[in-house]
Amino acid sequence: MRRKLVAANWKMNLTRAGSVDLVAALRKQLDAEAPRCDVVVCPPTVYLEAVAAVASGSCIGVGAQNVFGEPKGAFTGEVSVEMLSDIGSSYVIIGHSERRHTIGHHEDDAMLNAKVRAVLSDGRLVPIHCVGETLGERKESRTERVLTYQIRAGLIDVQLQSSQGIVIAYEPVWAIGTGQTATPEQAQAAHMHIRKELRALYGRIGDEIRILYGGSVTPENAATLFAQPDVDGGLIGGASLKADSFLAIVRAT
Ligand code: PEP
Repeated sequence: MRRKLVAANWKMNLTRAGSVDLVAALRKQLDAEAPRCDVVVCPPTVYLEAVAAVASGSCIGVGAQNVFGEPKGAFTGEVSVEMLSDIGSSYVIIGHSERRHTIGHHEDDAMLNAKVRAVLSDGRLVPIHCVGETLGERKESRTERVLTYQIRAGLIDVQLQSSQGIVIAYEPVWAIGTGQTATPEQAQAAHMHIRKELRALYGRIGDEIRILYGGSVTPENAATLFAQPDVDGGLIGGASLKADSFLAIVRAT
């Protein structure tokens, strides 16, 4: 039985005070409610330590939005797995579409695979590995091919001891920040395809790996998306920036 997970991606938003206030508001409510799912917040890296201090001892896990694939060295501006772990991170998003596709980043599958391997060989963080097709790829009926490629290339030489070692996020690029949410049927079809790939790679472990849906999830559409058999929670952008809407999504699990 897969326990659902709802993760907040705050992206490059909020101030230090705003980040601390938001996690404090979430903590206050979630401490009282004891949610039936796992909850993770991914603040900007510079505020991660402050957010982790507020979340410490609660049910809220803290994650980073990016990591570099080498343990140390002359990599100006990058942060390592160890550095993120040192400041209180226990998850890290890898391969978000804003890093795969946005001008200036263009992270390819080989680079993302290096990041996943660096995280797993260190063993302290759980990667949330993002995959998803562009609108053009969907229109050309290439969604499944793209997902197969991104899963297989991203997980080359990745051995898993347990299904808890990694989380996959299906985030169709056309749905992120656009208000154009995938229908529950579209999400389920993509998740089922990803599940098939994970099963082929990891056997029974693949059945238990959590697959999150991300892309314009709101309090209004969350419950129907989360009710799909292979949708194990969500990666939430815009709606995670306000305590009320994020809590409503957590409750929708
Ligand atoms: C995201 O950035 O991961 C995301 C899903 O954003 P939004 O919820 O705003 O579409």
